[in-house]
Amino acid sequence: MSSTPSGTLYIISAPSGAGKTSLVRALLDALPQVRVSVSHTTRPMRPGEVDGVNYHFVSREDFVQRLERNEFLEYAEVFGNLYGTSQLWLEQNLAQGQDLILEIDWQGAQQVRHLLPHAQSIFILPPSQEALRQRLTNRGQDADEVIEQRMQEAVSEMSHYVEYDYLVINDDFSHALEDIKAIFRSNRLKQSVQQQRFNALLQQLLL
Ligand code: GDP
Ligand code: ADP
Ligand code: 5GP
Repeated sequence: MSSTPSGTLYIISAPSGAGKTSLVRALLDALPQVRVSVSHTTRPMRPGEVDGVNYHFVSREDFVQRLERNEFLEYAEVFGNLYGTSQLWLEQNLAQGQDLILEIDWQGAQQVRHLLPHAQSIFILPPSQEALRQRLTNRGQDADEVIEQRMQEAVSEMSHYVEYDYLVINDDFSHALEDIKAIFRSNRLKQSVQQQRFNALLQQLLL
């Protein structure tokens, strides 16, 4: 058996505009030992986004070639764009004992749960449909027709919350952040996780 404990994999999903990216960014500031997977996408880059940081931005042709080389753990078409998670990055980081976050949609979450049943999944909901529309508009990064398309998809996306282990309502941002931190903290206290972390102590105590 490897001496490095394997990390926990977290899946975070939400309808577009619910605040998933903002919450994950704030979580990473609070918990520096957690890493987030950078997906590949064929979506056009938004103003302010950086290739390799927010996403690896690739052409559809490039994406399909990677797909044929089995480079993706999962992939899905969302709002007409392809998104996929790098299998190699995930394997390498999990083997290093890292806790990892996948910010992926419900279709990808279904695929990952099937492959990695220990993954912990969190669904984030907005406090109302009006708030969701307002956030998409305030973000000011998508064209009006893109916002309309995302709002039309939102109800069917949100219906998938039942498939997730945890449900967080992002009304007050700091409250939602505390909720997500609590999920991470309680998972780290699980006996199976603590057993790996405190292996030496447990051996001494049980001498
Ligand atoms: P994007 O993913 O590039 O669109 O960036 P974010 O959506 O994560 O953040 C956009 C801006 O909104 C940043 O300046 C955040 O600090 C800010 N922001 C995030 N959450 C809240 C909130 O709950 N309230 C307010 N007023 N601002 C927020
Ligand atoms: P997603 O990644 O789920 O598409 P973002 O993180 O980009 O969502 O958030 C969408 C917009 O909503 C951003 O402008 C963000 O600042 C804002 N936002 C996020 N959480 C809240 C909140 N609790 N209250 C008000 N605005 C929020
Ligand atoms: P956005 O374009 O707003 O960043 O993301 C649109 C949707 O695609 C979101 O629901 C997001 O979770 C999803 N998404 C982003 N990356 C991936 C990925 O690698 N795989 C899957 N399945 N969905 C993704």
